[in-house]
Amino acid sequence: MLTAKTEYITFSSKSRVEICNHCGDSVEFGTGKFVNRIPELNDTPTRIANGLLFPKGDFVCEPCDSNPEKFYSNF
Ligand SMILES: [Zn+2]
Repeated sequence: MLTAKTEYITFSSKSRVEICNHCGDSVEFGTGKFVNRIPELNDTPTRIANGLLFPKGDFVCEPCDSNPEKFYSNF
């Protein structure tokens, strides 16, 4: 029997911290980074373990996603 189990990923801005967890820049609508932002699916403890500078951010902006090593150079 096939069970239909669908998990919906919501993009409610109320439950997400709209900053880049690499550089801390806002990725809210109107910032210019909204369109190309990438949702970060790890939870905050995982981000801390990964050495991210802004672990509360729920997104990665496009420049950081393209060039992540730049933000790990101090580790
Ligand atoms: Zn960034």
